Amino acid sequence: MDDRIRKFMYGRYGPDELYKFQMVLYFITLILGIFIKSKILSIVQLLLVASIIFRPMSKKIYKRSDENQRYLKIKNNLLKPFTNIKRNIKDKDHIYKKCHKCKTTLKLPLPSKRGIKHAKCPHCGKRITLIAFKCQKIEIITSKNKK
Ligand SMILES: [Zn+2]
Repeated sequence: MDDRIRKFMYGRYGPDELYKFQMVLYFITLILGIFIKSKILSIVQLLLVASIIFRPMSKKIYKRSDENQRYLKIKNNLLKPFTNIKRNIKDKDHIYKKCHKCKTTLKLPLPSKRGIKHAKCPHCGKRITLIAFKCQKIEIITSKNKK
């Protein structure tokens, strides 16, 4: 059985990033379908199912790969404004900020106090205003004077 599937899938495109996205989109439309009865939604679901089934089985590998590349390009462009937000959540010790003048992304050290702070862009020299919600605490790891 496993061998037959492998033989069948040989020379076919297989699942990719666009496939995963279509799966997620399909489940979203399924959930939406519980609340909304719409013919358009049904058509979208049908198209998604058809694409989910037939895209991985396609033998036109270059065409499918091209579609996937286009999807990834659009996805990256849409997610670009959120990269610094993602970085700020991940890295707790720095603030990531984009310079408005030269569009360089700067990695700034956390200020010692909360509030509005200023920094200078090393690339173009423009003053950057940042609001610090978090601050770096000075931690004492070892102390000679014990109470
Ligand atoms: Zn700059």
